[in-house]
Amino acid sequence: MRSQEAKRLIGDLSLAELSREVEALGEPSYRARQIFKWIYQKGLDDWKEATDLPLFLRKQLGAHFDLRPFDLETCYQSRDGTQKFVFRLKDNNFIETVLIPSGERRTLCLSTQVGCKFGCLFCASGLPGFIRHLSPGEITGQILFIRHDLELSLTNFVFMGMGEPLDNFPSLAKAIEIMNSPEGLGIAARRITVSTCGVVPGIKKLKDLGLQVNLSLSLHAPNDELRRRLVPLAKKYSLEEVLSACEEYAEASGRIITLEYVLINGVNNSLKEATQLAKIAHRLRAKINLIPYSPVPGQPFQRPDRQDVEAFKKWLKDMGAKVTVRLSKGLDIQAACGQLAGRFLSTKFN
Ligand code: SAH
Repeated sequence: MRSQEAKRLIGDLSLAELSREVEALGEPSYRARQIFKWIYQKGLDDWKEATDLPLFLRKQLGAHFDLRPFDLETCYQSRDGTQKFVFRLKDNNFIETVLIPSGERRTLCLSTQVGCKFGCLFCASGLPGFIRHLSPGEITGQILFIRHDLELSLTNFVFMGMGEPLDNFPSLAKAIEIMNSPEGLGIAARRITVSTCGVVPGIKKLKDLGLQVNLSLSLHAPNDELRRRLVPLAKKYSLEEVLSACEEYAEASGRIITLEYVLINGVNNSLKEATQLAKIAHRLRAKINLIPYSPVPGQPFQRPDRQDVEAFKKWLKDMGAKVTVRLSKGLDIQAACGQLAGRFLSTKFN
């Protein structure tokens, strides 16, 4: 007997791809838009409920496509309101998604890979190594879960969870297309931010999408020597290459670049680094986001104290830079920047 064919994830299909599938089943292509509506606007979780589709089509879809990419494994609630969701994928890998409420905003921090290849010295996401890319449906599924299972509205979407989004460009691009499309999740590009540790070809490809998506560069060091020590990818792409790719991105998209800078005590927070960083920000007309280092078990780094963070910020301001400090949220549940590691570290607290 033939073993049962593995089902595909419906969320992995763009609208155009779904139209072709529907046509292959002998149905008019407008059915694809109907199906998209069910999935992305109504949060369909059982094909039976899509009652305006012909029964034949519902049966075919049910036989070939899964609606859900994962199950909720566990959820942690921080004292500051941040929530971290751990999802179990179909292959039993885990990913984490963080929901960060702040005033009127509700930001969702999305993962794009299980693990990460890039091994930035201060980040937990690289600790398990690289396991695999997420598919488009596994990325958008994180949004659907919050919107439909929890019935919460979201205002901002940042690709700052586990993994390097620009290293998984095909899935990222398709997920952004579905997020951005009016038939899909209907999210304005300006509400979406892609963060990268400096994958130069990816920055160029993102530019070629021609969208007004925001770009954050995880800079962390304002010169090649220090950057090569903290961000191994800097051995492949020089600061100059990364900065000029960002400049081109800013020009093409009309968006202001953000420079993310993890402040690590005694490593990258002297006046010398502040001066170099201010120059870079000036050149790119970028804003700087300082992130005091979030502790990761086993790492030798230290978070600077409040006065040191303020001093660094003041130097930058005095040199004319636009600078904010990101108050790390969810530290107590290891949901802060750089603390996401799937279940790899999750068991070490609580
Ligand atoms: N790979 C992408 C997306 C991850 S974003 C990137 O590097 O941009 C996660 C952000 O948190 C990055 O800016 C990352 O450098 C930062 N980060 C990593 N480890 C951190 C830590 N221990 N403390 C504070 N920020 C950290």
